Amino acid sequence: MKARLVLTAVLFLLLLTLIFWVWGTDFGTFGVDYLRQIGLLFAAFGLVLIFLQYVFVSRIKFIEAGIGLDRMLRWHRIMGRVGLAGLTVHAVLIVLYRFTVFGELFPTTFIWIGLIALFGFMVTASLASLYKTIGIAYEIWRNIHLLNYVLFPLALVHVFYHTVSGSALFYFWILLAVLYAALIIYRLLRINNIKSNPYDIVEVRQEAKDIWSLDFSGKKVDFKPGQFMFIQLLRNGHLSSSHPFTISNSPTRDRLSITPKKLGDFTSTIKDTKVGDKAFIDAPYGVFSFLNYKHEELVFIAGGIGITPFISMLRYIYDQQLSKQVTLFWTNRDESNLCFREELEQMEEEMENLKVILVMSDHPEWPGEKGRLGGDMIMSYLGSLDRKDFFICGPQALTASLKIELKELEVPPSRIHSELFQL
Ligand SMILES: Cc1cc2nc3c(=O)[nH]c(=O)nc-3n(C[C@H](O)[C@H](O)[C@H](O)COP(=O)(O)OP(=O)(O)OC[C@H]3O[C@@H](n4cnc5c(N)ncnc54)[C@H](O)[C@@H]3O)c2cc1C
Repeated sequence: MKARLVLTAVLFLLLLTLIFWVWGTDFGTFGVDYLRQIGLLFAAFGLVLIFLQYVFVSRIKFIEAGIGLDRMLRWHRIMGRVGLAGLTVHAVLIVLYRFTVFGELFPTTFIWIGLIALFGFMVTASLASLYKTIGIAYEIWRNIHLLNYVLFPLALVHVFYHTVSGSALFYFWILLAVLYAALIIYRLLRINNIKSNPYDIVEVRQEAKDIWSLDFSGKKVDFKPGQFMFIQLLRNGHLSSSHPFTISNSPTRDRLSITPKKLGDFTSTIKDTKVGDKAFIDAPYGVFSFLNYKHEELVFIAGGIGITPFISMLRYIYDQQLSKQVTLFWTNRDESNLCFREELEQMEEEMENLKVILVMSDHPEWPGEKGRLGGDMIMSYLGSLDRKDFFICGPQALTASLKIELKELEVPPSRIHSELFQL
């Protein structure tokens, strides 16, 4: 519903762009310089779409709530590319126009500024798609991507110079510039707010072989179980980059917690965190919570560290003594990274509506379920798949295959919800 509203607003903005263009275009001269006029339309569409990308990545809570940051970042990737394509078509049409009318390009300073902005957008967009293939670290790619905050003002300088002062498009650019400035101020204020409210690390716990939990105390966060946060750790005077983690505790409990599994540069250092270190927390985000859906019967399917949103939701159901019927399937390679094991056993004993099925994919001696967790195994425990909401959190391959299998078993997509630990 909210997603549809935002997409309608995007279409409305594009329609407004078209109206401004029509309003500012002299159709009497259209035959002579149609390449330039259509080029301007592509510039306007491209810039509006590019502008919207700053909105989508700004983590504006009232837009994100009900949509989910992962979905907004998917839009960002698609619309950013379409916007870039618009700007490229604009450049090609203007070059063609100049060659047709003047016989050469005459690159002025302001044309160069436009070309630099366009080239910059191309480089940052290509890196965003290719950083894993090229082997560039996530942080390096992210820092290069921040260049976009300089490129948009450059693009605006270019279009201001080439638009007749007082024309309809001129006022349209002013509107975009003001909105962009407002967005930057919003982001700076938000960063300032986060930095003014540091959290203390009050406990560091090893949960399993490669998994630690960190507990924080500080300003209360109003979140739903299953949501996530961004965290920066300040340790020994060094501030880490910002990383997303599920809030593994429940809003019913005092502390805020995360439970990272060792994976790369940052998560390998979680174990070195000390009580008394500081953290900067930006929360909450995401829509992966059973509280957003209506069914009484819940099926939780976790792969590895994908258990974290489910432990948060189970703790909430347990603390609130909700009557939800929950079946948790949790697949792991072996027992070494089974965190929260005792807590889950205790919950299963105390909650008559909870069933936990542990599946080991590479552990021949395991007395329980072994092998691949798929639709057949799920069916064998649930019998009927009706009137149930399915929540999946795990590696991309597992999530994708389970979604397909559940759909083949005629579970409607509106009852299948998933979270990927990847933005
Ligand atoms: C919504 C969400 C919830 C998550 N919850 C958990 C959790 O509860 N427990 C857990 O162990 N992991 C969780 N993750 C994954 C966690 O964010 C990454 O494992 C971690 O950021 C990897 O950092 P690294 O430097 O150790 O690894 P790297 O080897 O540097 O990165 C591995 C991959 O993690 C992603 N990544 C790396 N750095 C960042 C960053 N700064 N911001 C965003 N993504 C990044 C990239 O896709 C990268 O390819 C979650 C991710 C998301 C999106």
